[in-house]
Amino acid sequence: MGYVARTDSRYFQNIVLSLTRKKAPTLGRKIGTLVVLSVLSSCLLVALLLAVFQFHRTLANQRADLDGTAAILATTVARPLEARDQQQVLSILTSVGRVPGLISVAVINGNNERFAVMGNASFLETDLASSSDGMVKALTRATQIASVPIVKSGAPIGRLILLSDISKLRNDFIFTVTFSLAAACIASALGLFMSRPLQLRIVQPMSELIAAMQKIRAKRDFKTFVEHNSDDESGKLVESFNSMIAAVRSRDMVLQKIAYTDPLTGLPNRPAMQQAIETMLAEKLEGAAYLIDLDGFREINDTLGHSIADALLMDIASRIHAESGGSANAFRLGGDEFMVVSSRISSNREAETDIARFIATFYQPLSILGHEVHLSACAGVAIFPRDGNNASEVMRRCDLALQEAKKAGVGRVSIYRPDMEEKIRARNELVAGLRSGLQRDEFKVHYQPQVDLHTGCVLGFEALARWQHPVKGYISPAVFVPVAEKAGLIPELGLRILRTSCVQAKNWFKAGNGVYQVSVNVSAAQLLQADFLKEVQEALSDSGLPPPLLCLELTESVFIGKSISTIRHLFTELKKMGIELALDDFGTGYSSLSYLEGLPFDKVKIDRAFVNGVHSSAKKKALLQSIISLSHALGMKVVAEGAEEQEDIATLVAMKADVVQGYYFAKPAAAEEALAKARQINETAKKPRIAV
Ligand code: C2E
Ligand code: CA
Ligand code: CA
Repeated sequence: MGYVARTDSRYFQNIVLSLTRKKAPTLGRKIGTLVVLSVLSSCLLVALLLAVFQFHRTLANQRADLDGTAAILATTVARPLEARDQQQVLSILTSVGRVPGLISVAVINGNNERFAVMGNASFLETDLASSSDGMVKALTRATQIASVPIVKSGAPIGRLILLSDISKLRNDFIFTVTFSLAAACIASALGLFMSRPLQLRIVQPMSELIAAMQKIRAKRDFKTFVEHNSDDESGKLVESFNSMIAAVRSRDMVLQKIAYTDPLTGLPNRPAMQQAIETMLAEKLEGAAYLIDLDGFREINDTLGHSIADALLMDIASRIHAESGGSANAFRLGGDEFMVVSSRISSNREAETDIARFIATFYQPLSILGHEVHLSACAGVAIFPRDGNNASEVMRRCDLALQEAKKAGVGRVSIYRPDMEEKIRARNELVAGLRSGLQRDEFKVHYQPQVDLHTGCVLGFEALARWQHPVKGYISPAVFVPVAEKAGLIPELGLRILRTSCVQAKNWFKAGNGVYQVSVNVSAAQLLQADFLKEVQEALSDSGLPPPLLCLELTESVFIGKSISTIRHLFTELKKMGIELALDDFGTGYSSLSYLEGLPFDKVKIDRAFVNGVHSSAKKKALLQSIISLSHALGMKVVAEGAEEQEDIATLVAMKADVVQGYYFAKPAAAEEALAKARQINETAKKPRIAV
């Protein structure tokens, strides 16, 4: 690269511009300006001094000559003047008048009158007025005067005056000064031109260093080096810079490795994946991203412990890594989430074939620390650039596809489709609707009677949320409750249902309509609110409902991933208030009987999947019978949900279930209608217990 001098005219234009421009001047411009100013000023100074000296010396010489001539003349004209011989004096003066440069000569007699004059007399008059002849006067007047006394026999008898022309001397002086000025300008330009290599030597390495630093800062490109071929200070500066960058680069490489590697499996991590996709997109390459998630990893973690789960993840990582290579790269994004980015994939069919080999690696049983583990995985696929033109979009769409695959079951693969986005949009719309619905108080409560199978009378009602959307009409709680849970709106919604239900039950009670217990559904997110106990207490005290007339229904989901001691504490406090607790939807989910054993539930609500059609299914009968026997053994009542046929009711009675809630007796309805239905049920019962 070297610091080669450029002699193009643009450089000089730049210098001129730098002198006129207001912008902060560069170092090169500063040096140029300095060179011009110093050469110009020194040349001018030297030339001026020389010119003045020369002028002064010539002027002094001329003066001496003039004085000498005047002295000789004065002596020569003394005798004719004394003799008043004007002719003689004039002839002497005329002979002198031929001396070059002499303008006029005059002889003044003792009476101070002009005795004889040669040349321009008026000129003489003005010149006589001035006393001395300095350089400035000499320059402005262009004449020089000599005036000497004419002495005869020791006494002055007159004066001799000489006036000499020095305009040539003045012109010489002006010419010298002008010439010097021009010479100084040329010298400056020459100096500027000659100083260019020096400037380049100093400025160019600096410019290159600045450019390198800017590149490093903008692109974090630590491979940037500046070439140098000199041993002077600028060379050393460049050398130091290069070694500093080399040190930063090696440090950066270590940091990059840490930042882009998953510490557990050694696979590249999420930022590395984003970078890989961005790079492929920038290079206009096609590819597919497979987001792979293990099925049931949480259970493996819970049952086999973290160290085995970690060993398992490492094993899986090495399998995927071995399967990738060449056209595919494997990444671990965290937890049990892996991603494979495969290049040269542009259609769903290609992606399906390609991903199969990665999914297959999960199905080979793993033997970890003596445990044989069988695995499966779901995957969400997005093809780019078709499904996204940046990494986060590709990732988000993989995620959407994965969610669908997970919903479909274990070991499923889904490829992104635009309608998945539509689902998300619809969900977001639903969330917005829920929010405004809460504000506009669109949520109502319906009540479904629960009938005592021993007496045939209504014991109470389950309170069920109802939402009449202003545009979409009725939306089932099975649709909006899970969405409200995910959107964090369930605590507010649940609290409203709780308060409304308590007030309703109290009103029935107060109006002498009967003693009905109200069962209210409580979600996990609601239960775990810091002030849940306080809210329940307030709902009871504000409505005046006796606590035993409130039952809270909780599903097994409240235990998932929660600390059992927290749950136990909450339940104990609720029981202390006198509230009843029911385990809802028993038979679905994990259905671990351990929940029944350790916690103070008063009732078990058996899911309608086991109840509906029980009379005709031996399997359902057997399951139901064992649940009923076990619940009774643990001191809990059994509420059977979803009985729609009379035969089911008969079977439940035969099995000694305690309570039934189902369409056979009544569908959920608004308070008035539900109460009317309850009265009707009670009237047809053998032993009515309502005091209407
Ligand atoms: P769930 O707690 O199991 O409520 C019982 C559901 O079964 C209700 O559905 C009810 O209408 C229905 N059902 C009752 N008897 C029969 C029957 O004989 N046949 C059939 N096919 N269905 C019957 P609904 O009202 O649609 O509620 C669905 C779910 O939404 C509820 O299931 C509950 O989990 C949830 N939910 C409703 N309201 C609330 C609420 O206020 N808070 C919370 N957290 N969840 C609620
Ligand atoms: Ca329920
Ligand atoms: Ca239920």
